[in-house]
Amino acid sequence: MKKYNFNAGPSILPREVMEATAAACLEFEGSGLSLMETSHRAKNFQPVVDEAVALFKELLDIPEGYSVIFLGGGASLEFCMIPYNFLEKKAAYLNTGVWATKAEKEAKLFGEVVEVASSKDKNFTYIPKNFDIPADADYLHITSNNTIYGTELRKDLDSPIPVIADMSSDIFSRPVDVSKYGMIYGGAQKNLSMAGVTFVVVKEDLLGKVSRPIPTMLDYRTHIKKGSMFNTPPTVPIYCALQNLKWIKKQGGVEAMAKLAKQRADIVYGEIDRNKLFVGTAEEDSRSYMNLTFVLKPEYQDLQDEFMAFATEKGMVGVKGHRDVGGFRASCYNAMTIEGCQALVACMKEFEAKH
Ligand SMILES: *Cc1c(COP(=O)(O)O)cnc(C)c1O
Repeated sequence: MKKYNFNAGPSILPREVMEATAAACLEFEGSGLSLMETSHRAKNFQPVVDEAVALFKELLDIPEGYSVIFLGGGASLEFCMIPYNFLEKKAAYLNTGVWATKAEKEAKLFGEVVEVASSKDKNFTYIPKNFDIPADADYLHITSNNTIYGTELRKDLDSPIPVIADMSSDIFSRPVDVSKYGMIYGGAQKNLSMAGVTFVVVKEDLLGKVSRPIPTMLDYRTHIKKGSMFNTPPTVPIYCALQNLKWIKKQGGVEAMAKLAKQRADIVYGEIDRNKLFVGTAEEDSRSYMNLTFVLKPEYQDLQDEFMAFATEKGMVGVKGHRDVGGFRASCYNAMTIEGCQALVACMKEFEAKH
């Protein structure tokens, strides 16, 4: 039976991206060697990194003065590298969920942290609005899409200080005005590649301003200077990212991705709102286009396990909600098709008819 992958991450990738990556793992571009056994310093690997960086810049329309680097350690290591590299005295954090809280916790090891707003009072079901950004802080950290809670800040903030955004789960899902950010980063395993690589887009002139010494591997300048090759980078995940960037370009770039995301969201939220059994968990104006969270209405709570079993039987994979929210989560990243969303809707309708 056909499976529809709604996993939150690692998550769905276009079939042709996986096929190209799998093929390179057997034989890397006619070299007689697998990509897995190819040196990152090999003549035929350098173009992979160069092309991935170039396409990254092209698709996000990244202005001059920014570097794109590929690192290890996941978004979670960035939570510590960010304050290490940018926090001299004080940093501002917008708290919109578990990942944002984890980022904030690391910053507190390095200096004063101002929480500009938090939606913790309502279990992170909304994105706070109208908060003040302290002009004397070194940067403002935000999480543009809250993978667990299904909320998304789908616009680029105006800020008097550099904005640093965790875009792990919504990168390449919409056009972004990169000039409004000091840094954009994320783990690639949600919407860019397989697990194992972290992407960082950083404005170079913001670096080198803190007075503390920075360990070599944690200093962004090290990786910029060496073009992501200071140490051995995750070669296969970078290759996979390149295949996906090519796929995004072929589909029409981030504008096309944004259009698709809206279509998918309309289909699935439309059904969540219509169906008598379910209700969305995020406030409507904060709803994510990437992670669509919903629960059974209080009077139908006892159907939880039955719906999970029913959805699984219909080929839906990964619709179980995160334990902090409960219920269900349909992650609809770039590679999720309209057909997949329609299959989920059909499954919800059929379940409703049974009850
Ligand atoms: C998954 C996720 C992370 C953690 O990423 P790792 O690469 O596992 O460290 C951080 N932030 C957001 C928004 C995420 O969705």
